[in-house]
Amino acid sequence: MKYTSTRSKIKPLDSAEAILQGLAEDGGLFVPEKIPKVTLEEIDALREKSYEERAEWLLGKYLTDYTEYELGECAELAYNWFDVPARIPVAILIQDPNNPVAPVGSMELWHGPTSAFKDVALQMLPHLMRIALKKVGETKEILILVATSGDTGKAALAGFADVPQTKIMVFYPEDGVSKIQRLQMVTQVGKNVNVTAVKGNFDDAQNGVKKIFNDEKIREELDKLNVKLSSANSINWGRLVPQITYYFSGYAELIKSKQIALGEKIIISVPTGNFGNILAAYYAIKMGLPVKKLICASNVNNVLTEFFATGTYNRNRKFFKTITPSMDILISSNLERLLYHESDGNYKLVNRYMTELNTLGKYKIDKKLKARLDKIFYAEYVTEDETREFIKRVYDSFGYLLDTHTAVSIAALSKYRGKTRDFTPILSASTASPYKFTSAVLTALGQSVEGVDDFAQLKMLNDLTNTKIPRNLAELSKAKILHEDVCEKEEMAQRVLQFAAEKI
Ligand SMILES: *Cc1c(COP(=O)(O)O)cnc(C)c1O
Repeated sequence: MKYTSTRSKIKPLDSAEAILQGLAEDGGLFVPEKIPKVTLEEIDALREKSYEERAEWLLGKYLTDYTEYELGECAELAYNWFDVPARIPVAILIQDPNNPVAPVGSMELWHGPTSAFKDVALQMLPHLMRIALKKVGETKEILILVATSGDTGKAALAGFADVPQTKIMVFYPEDGVSKIQRLQMVTQVGKNVNVTAVKGNFDDAQNGVKKIFNDEKIREELDKLNVKLSSANSINWGRLVPQITYYFSGYAELIKSKQIALGEKIIISVPTGNFGNILAAYYAIKMGLPVKKLICASNVNNVLTEFFATGTYNRNRKFFKTITPSMDILISSNLERLLYHESDGNYKLVNRYMTELNTLGKYKIDKKLKARLDKIFYAEYVTEDETREFIKRVYDSFGYLLDTHTAVSIAALSKYRGKTRDFTPILSASTASPYKFTSAVLTALGQSVEGVDDFAQLKMLNDLTNTKIPRNLAELSKAKILHEDVCEKEEMAQRVLQFAAEKI
């Protein structure tokens, strides 16, 4: 399997090269030249496999330059932290056989070290990178730079901690993250990690990191230290490919629990921001997973809902800060890959749309492409009130607790069922533990959190619902603080050079 760019014809790369490079030189994203196919027999065989074995199987379809042994090792190392044996279990929300409403499976992607779905990929990517370095004969150390508004930083730290030939450095805005988010980062263990607070807001931290990436001089300095900069952002193919596994895994779980028969079509619903998670579902469908519709669920930042309804992507709009912060996004970068595949690899067309997005902030896709997207996708958005209402409603009806992002997915589904009367069985991506967004969840359940400290809120939700506090959050108040560095935004580059020079 070779990889090409969404924006021009390039010399095809192996997956190891694409993963190390991250972004193509023309600014495009790496895509597989052909999407591999799987059979129903292969899907059926997944029922008896562990999650790690399912991951090894799926990765083997795309990362053909990795050996079976390497992929098996990556899967073991990536998922051994996940604190349930199934790794990614599927909870069935409607179980009454006399109830005519078809089942809803909630695929819990949040049993990893930071209690959110990004762990599934960020626990895997560092190992894929480490092996890729060996494959291409790269002897330099990779330094991963991250600016975070809270969650991605911790997920990346947890993934890269103590991975050989890598270092990771995370900058966060000193006053721009929650108490729990800060503690999660500053207690991170690992010889190769650095966490530094920046005096400023998230934009300051992000602009600082961008500047460092574009600074030739810093690159030269790092080169002398035998260090190469890299990022771990969600457009890297090595972050996308591990996500494809769980759609097959979730389907196999639905067969196993007799909710569906082999070959039966399902509906998949995904709470969407940067379009990575839902794009992984798209790849699964193209590979042969029996799916009738893919529901793209958004919050009031509904740029994607409008795009799927009208064919126009327009980022020139008001930006809202919501109780689903991981979906507060106006540019869904991974959409570019969908446009490429559904236009049969028309990179000239994709290039034109992306140039228009850059210069005008919008583009309109042609009718033929729009018609093809209509066959696969259904898009819906959900208001803040509806999100809270669904947390309460699902908890009251099924005793099942949703986080805010997952509630957007379930609410969008409910709207879909209401409009279409289509009661096909459902697999809904549950992207975060309710304990990750405790205050919004408690509020939705009718509790007042005014003046209640973050840790007291965890206890409060625990007392109220008798659900388990995830291990990483429960242990946080006792963890030792290891990183207390603070810097001015002008000092970021110097801090990077300092950390790069440190022997580990
Ligand atoms: C990142 C994230 C999303 C959005 O996923 P994308 O791949 O960016 O579309 C949804 N929910 C949670 C909890 C997330 O962390």
